[in-house]
Amino acid sequence: MALLQISEPGQSPDPHQRRLAVGIDLGTTHSLVAAVRHGVAECLPDADGEVILPSAVQYLAGGGRRIGRAALAAQAGDPLNVVVSAKRFMGRGMADAAQAQQRLTNRLVEGNGMLAFDTHEGAKTPVEVSAEILASLRQRAEDSFDADVFGAVITVPAYFDDAQRQATKDAAHLAGLNVLRLINEPTAAALAYGLDSGSEGLYAIFDLGGGTFDVSLLRMQRGVFEVIAAAGDTALGGDDYDERLAALLLSEARAPALAALSRTERSVVLAAARQAKHALSAAPQTTVAVSGGGAQRSVTVTAAQFEAATAELTQRTISLLRKALRDAKLSKDVVQGVVLVGGSTRMPAIRREVQVLFGRPPLIDLDPDQVVAIGAAIQADALAGNTRESSPLLLDVIPLSLGIETMGGLVERIVDRNTTIPVAKAQEFTTFKDGQTAMVIHVLQGERELVADCRSLARFELRGIPPMVAGAARIRVTFQVDADGLLSVAARETGSGVEASVAVKPSYGLADDDIARMLRESFATAEVDMAARALREAQVEAERMVLATRSAIAADGDLLEEAERAEINALVEATLRSAEGSDHHAIEAAVKALANGTEGFAAARMNRGIRSALAGRSVEEV
Ligand code: ADP
Ligand code: MG
Repeated sequence: MALLQISEPGQSPDPHQRRLAVGIDLGTTHSLVAAVRHGVAECLPDADGEVILPSAVQYLAGGGRRIGRAALAAQAGDPLNVVVSAKRFMGRGMADAAQAQQRLTNRLVEGNGMLAFDTHEGAKTPVEVSAEILASLRQRAEDSFDADVFGAVITVPAYFDDAQRQATKDAAHLAGLNVLRLINEPTAAALAYGLDSGSEGLYAIFDLGGGTFDVSLLRMQRGVFEVIAAAGDTALGGDDYDERLAALLLSEARAPALAALSRTERSVVLAAARQAKHALSAAPQTTVAVSGGGAQRSVTVTAAQFEAATAELTQRTISLLRKALRDAKLSKDVVQGVVLVGGSTRMPAIRREVQVLFGRPPLIDLDPDQVVAIGAAIQADALAGNTRESSPLLLDVIPLSLGIETMGGLVERIVDRNTTIPVAKAQEFTTFKDGQTAMVIHVLQGERELVADCRSLARFELRGIPPMVAGAARIRVTFQVDADGLLSVAARETGSGVEASVAVKPSYGLADDDIARMLRESFATAEVDMAARALREAQVEAERMVLATRSAIAADGDLLEEAERAEINALVEATLRSAEGSDHHAIEAAVKALANGTEGFAAARMNRGIRSALAGRSVEEV
């Protein structure tokens, strides 16, 4: 893997010329900004000394904004104008929002295929909301260093697709940030622990945040981290622990259940539960005031009670971790380290269960809230050219493979998943039928072999191909992904020079669950796909042979004796019959028989072709 080296060899950067480059963890519930100061990456605090910025924006009447804790505090009283969890909606259309909407207090509206939060300041897209958060973090960094931010590395979940990554970049641009790179959250966590400087190895990144759980298996090889398996649940996180504990507290206080409380009461109880949960990460018991249904009581709850009430949630994370290992066909013993990420991994039960599974303690030296931002800052500093050594720089990769549809509903991959960008790759295709003058190029993204299982990105036609026999046209399809992850596809018939192209602007159509599922399925179904592919390939080959034979008979059928013609027809019928079945070996055998049976005919046609080419020319001319 060629690594990008920014600083000139042998030239150490002038300390006064350092460029302020920040790493930003733009989280669903919390966001952070970090930068390297005196050689150490650290999260930057706000004026109150807090490094965590709740990912919440309140739109005030008259155009003002509140961001972070103040916005969160206002949520119960102003639910429509406080937006939280905007990340769940990045790069998404209304159709995908249903699942993410469950805990939403906002009204959603749709415009241009993109959804937006309806506030009294107008419709605000998730991109605009995220831009407010990013701008606030940028301001924090500029105040802290008294310098302009040169650029930022922003982290995104590994399963984010092009549309979600593009939306994240759009938000950064809106916030006036120069995006040096987007990197995957698990990769940033691995960088924070310096796992890139060690030898090659396999690491598990376990990220339990506020509303989501992600586990990624990373392989470090030749200076590049590859996500080799991912699993998770986009509706499992600290919020669920809060809910279970709130239910426990309410029942201990003999108050009505959570669902029976008013919206405001519910948010007060949930806040109390969260506080208690945090306390229980450090103490065996805690006492909280619980109000509900008009009464207020003080309730003491123990860590053991809390763990019992949430054991099922914790077990779900462990099962997903096991599943990621299974999907990758890896035993837990080959994992060299487990990194805990996300505030919820502070819970002792999580640490214990992860340790039980791997038989060794996870890496917890760094603050789990901060590790992603710290890794991003290390990467940003290197990209800005501030580091003396040519530290390895990670490159952006394509999260899901790109390819085009070929005959039989198959996907021919052109750019593989995890390929670093920018990249340009070309492949040649040909026509399937004699005289074919147009070809549809259907661009797909996904890991599966069949078109139906991948996501359709774009479709365009190449017209004006000069009529030729099947297989003679040479159509070069080029995929180009620029440094910003934008794809364009061009097709060109090399003989005539006719061409057509399309710039793929990601549509907003795929939920992150879909992406995560597509990845998981591809790990789990590779074998099924191989068999399906072999069958479809055999069927396509059979069809091609039958077509070629028929057109040869139409052209030169007079060369055949009646018996020969009958024999070839029988072979054609047998090939067609076998192609309807699902045994690819049988189809291949029939195709082979047809090829053998038409050998003599092909030779006779060739002789005729040569004779006609020679007709009328003297021997000297030849
Ligand atoms: P995200 O990446 O989803 O934005 P974070 O990684 O910041 O989220 O995690 C936020 C979650 O971590 C919240 O549910 C919060 O309650 C939880 N959390 C933070 N500190 C603790 C703690 N000491 N004990 C238990 N949970 C904690
Ligand atoms: Mg996070």
